[in-house]
This record gives sequence, structure tokens and C-alpha cells, in this order.
Amino acid sequence: MEGTGVKVRNPRTGEYDYEISPLGPDAVAARAQALRAAQPAWAALTPEERGVILCRWADAVEAHRQPLFEALRADTGRSMIAAVEVDGLPRSLRRWAEIAPHLIAQHSLVDVPSANPTVTNSTRLVPFPLFGAIAPWNFPIVLSTIDAIPALAAGCAALVKPSEVTPRFIEPLRETIGQVPELVAVLAFIEGDAETGKALIANVDYVCFTGSVATGRKVAEAAAQAFIPANLELGGKDPMLILASADPERAAKTALRSSVVATGQACQSIERIYVAREIYEPFLEALVREAETVELNYPDIESGQIGPFIFPPQADKVAQHINAARDAGARVLTGGEIETRGGGKYLRPTIIADATDDMAVVREETFGPVLPVMAFDSVEDAIAAANHSEYGLSAAVLAGSAAEAEAVGVQLEAGAISINDGSMTSMVWDAENTSFKLSGMGPSRMGESGLLRFFRKQALIRQNADPATIADFSEGGI
Ligand code: NAD
Repeated sequence: MEGTGVKVRNPRTGEYDYEISPLGPDAVAARAQALRAAQPAWAALTPEERGVILCRWADAVEAHRQPLFEALRADTGRSMIAAVEVDGLPRSLRRWAEIAPHLIAQHSLVDVPSANPTVTNSTRLVPFPLFGAIAPWNFPIVLSTIDAIPALAAGCAALVKPSEVTPRFIEPLRETIGQVPELVAVLAFIEGDAETGKALIANVDYVCFTGSVATGRKVAEAAAQAFIPANLELGGKDPMLILASADPERAAKTALRSSVVATGQACQSIERIYVAREIYEPFLEALVREAETVELNYPDIESGQIGPFIFPPQADKVAQHINAARDAGARVLTGGEIETRGGGKYLRPTIIADATDDMAVVREETFGPVLPVMAFDSVEDAIAAANHSEYGLSAAVLAGSAAEAEAVGVQLEAGAISINDGSMTSMVWDAENTSFKLSGMGPSRMGESGLLRFFRKQALIRQNADPATIADFSEGGI
């Protein structure tokens, strides 16, 4: 049974020009049951055989690139990042196809001597049968495939629910999956909203959720009821610390890019800056100059660097943060006004000076191209201010040397620290990191654990001598 239709807004025109029919609970359960039925045969293939099939999917994505790219452009209102997402999918498939066989071999142990001299142990990696993903709207393809690909490589079947805000890419992606019959049986992308997401959790054996903290809590509670692991990748309020030894011009360029890429709609965006007072003024001046070189991608989607807000309520929240900071005495040096162009909502890079720690723009996730900048007098104060947050996703430190930046970086409470750069987790996928505090829960999706988290470990404990008998446990036998 399918739910009532959900109309989907185009972020560039503001028009509701697309519609989905969210899958209801019965349809989700039926889909899950079919995937479950096909999973044992998929898990029985060797990792190399699964890799060959994943590579065929990569070929199919490349052969059908254009419709996928166009759908994602319509979903997100941006062109360059849509191309990066589409072209990254085959790369990610081939990467996991290559890595998985080695990792699985390395962690599958056979007849290893035990501390008990008569025993040898073997370790089998047994995949969770059905993996489920619930994804957000900010990077629709990346975030609905980033966990599903290693789950498939591990031998799980996968049920994926992208965001109802950006569902246009699902149909052309399904076309590519349809080119690979072995995958059709074990991989399903479904359209749906929160209700579909709830039904997914009730039907899978492991859920990966990427989204807001508020929804993440609900997912964790539902997963606890279903008694399944919940791997949560949530929000952030990433700080950048710029030490006195950093070059202010270079720091400004790095800070700006780390904040405004994707209109700031990225979990790992830099959202607050603490800069040494010695270089505060030259840094601010360079930052404003750099910010003012940035253009909207309107009217030509293939120009500029800033696209529209994908989700209009986000624009309202960003405006509230800016206005509240202004009302409380902060200075908006550039940007600061939501602009409506052709039905889309845009914001130019917004630099806020004299921000203070109690402002929402410093405390809460803004998710826009907004940079509050604060001066610090001692590095200890800057570290304390950076750590004074309920989030701990990632952070960045810029200094004259990597050693100086790292000495500060290790004192920050966050899962990934960019040293002499910013927001590197969007570009570097092999460094394991786990989110601190409210930014997430569970193992790293990056690096080896990206695959290994989808296995249960089964021990085969082989007795090579006569087993103990009850006589060996006689109370008088001490
Ligand atoms: P959201 O939490 O509103 O929605 C995410 C998904 O959850 C959607 O698919 C939605 O349909 C589904 N959903 C909503 N309610 C549900 C429920 N009760 N049960 C199951 N599923 C439910 O997030 P969003 O607004 O789409 O995304 C933005 C957020 O995502 C930001 O906070 C951002 O920081 C975060 N994010 C985190 C990462 C990361 O890797 N840490 C990456 C990207 C985005």
C-alpha cells in the first residue's frame, strides 16, 4: 500500500514540479522481505564476485550518467557538485570492490592457536542480512550510497530511503541498478518520508542514519525498540582555530571555502572561527574581500559558486541566526540578506564580526554560508570556546607549522581535525573518525571500519583434545 503523494519543490524555481508516492509500512515490509530472501545467495558469493557485480553497476552509472546528473541538478539546484556526486559513485563502487576482498581475508581467521593449548580458533565474518539507510537532502547521492556500498560489499542486502526533499535522482539511479540483475534482487531505493523511514527501521537488521540530531534521537529510540544497531551521522558546529602564526590571507581563503562550499549545507562546514587577536583585523579584511568575490549560480547554473537553499525552512533559520546576532550587537560585514531570485532563495557569504559565544549563530547548527568570527587572546581560551559545544563532528586548526596546529588539534573534542586546511572529511575518505558528543554514534563510516561494521564475528572454537567432563568440575577437585 502506498501513502498519499508528496509534492517536491524545485530549489531554483520555487515550483512544486515533482511528486512522489511514499511507500507505506506494508510496502516497506514486503520490499524488505524480498531483499531478505535474496540475501543468502548474495552473501554466498565470494567478495571478489560481489566486487565484479558492483563494478558492473559502476559501468551502468557511467553509461547512464546524463539523466542521473540532470535529476540531481534539479534536486539540488547546483551543477558542479551534482557532477562530483554522480562521478564519485562509480569511483566509490570500484574502490570498495577492490578493498573489500583484502579486508575480509585479513579479518577472517582460520585455526589460530588459542591461549588454551588444546584449542584453535577461527573467526568468520557474518554480514547483517538486511542493511537500511536513511539519508538527508544536502548530498543526496553521496549520503544515500556512502554506507550502502560497503554494506553490499560485505554481503548484506540494502534498503535505502533518500530524503523526500530531493527524490528526483532515485528513478534514474534505479535504471542503472536495473542494468545489473544480480543487484536488483539485493538493493532497493525507495521513495518516502518520515513514516517510510520509521517502517524501514522496523524491518532491517542495521540502520545507518544521516541527518539532524532531533531525528537522530528518534531513530536511535526506534532502533532500540527494534533491537538493532543504529549508526548515526548527525549535525555539527565545526570550529576553526587560526593561531597567530598563521598567514591571515591564506587562512581567509581556506576559511571561506570551508564554510561556503555547497551554500554551507554540509555537516562538516566550518561554522565558527576563533582567530588570534594579533591577526584578527587583517584576517577579517581578507575574509570579507574573499567573500565578495563569490557569485550566485543564478541565472546561469554553470556560473558562480553559491547555489540556492535546497530546503526553504533552512533559509528562514539562517536568516533568524543572522538577524538575532545583528540585534545583539554583532556586525554583519558582508552578505546577510536572503535574496529571492527566480523563485529560489540564496544567500551570499555572510561574515559576522564581534560575534559572542551566547549567540545562536555561534551555538546552533546554521547550515548556511555564514561565518561568525571571534578574536581570542590565549590559545587556551580558544580551545575552551571551541569545545564549549554540544557538537563534536569535526574541527580545523591553522598555524604556521603543522606541529603547532596538531598540538592544539589534539585538545579539541571532535572526531576529525583538519590540520592547516578545513572540512577535509568531505574529501578524505580513508581516515577513520567517530563523531563526538551529539554529532553521532557508532563506528566510523570512513576507512576500514566503513566495511567491517557490517559484520558480526562468529567464532569457531575447536577442541583438539578430549573435552572436559563434569568430573573436572567436581567441588572436591580443588
Ligand atoms: P532530517 O533529520 O530532517 O531528515 C533526514 C532523513 O530522516 C530524511 O530522509 C527523513 O525523511 C528521515 N526521517 C525524518 N523523520 C524520521 C523518523 N522519525 N524516522 C525515520 N526517518 C525519519 O535531516 P535533513 O534536514 O534532511 O538533513 C540535514 C541534517 O543532516 C543536518 O543536521 C546535517 O548536519 C546532517 N548531516 C550530517 C552528516 C554527517 O555525516 N554527520 C552529513 C550530512 C548531513
